[in-house]
Amino acid sequence: MLCRKADAPDIAAIDSDIQRADFIIVTHTHYDNVPDVPHIAHKTGAAVIGTESTENVTGAYGVPEEQLLTVRGGEDYEFSSFSLKVIPSIHSPLDHKHYFSSNTAPAGMKAPLILELIHPEGKNL
Ligand SMILES: [Zn+2]
Repeated sequence: MLCRKADAPDIAAIDSDIQRADFIIVTHTHYDNVPDVPHIAHKTGAAVIGTESTENVTGAYGVPEEQLLTVRGGEDYEFSSFSLKVIPSIHSPLDHKHYFSSNTAPAGMKAPLILELIHPEGKNL
């Protein structure tokens, strides 16, 4: 069982490297993909596009619901500067075509999160 605290974002690196973001697209919520997202969302006001797991993880860090666009796959969006077609996928399509854990990170979590809570990949896009 993993009970370590999830990887903390490198706030100094984020603040140095990211000045503006309009959208953050999260393909899945493994602990190595999502920890920076809440800080970037808070800092920039960017819309976060991801699965229900993404919503639950970012919600644990207080990202407002109005910044979240929860998708399941199959959506087709036209934004002012790009279009986005959301395609369901598996985690490693080129590496033995497998899932790790397609469970959804639970709703109602509160930060700081521990690894076991953001180990489910929460479906892949
Ligand atoms: Zn992953």
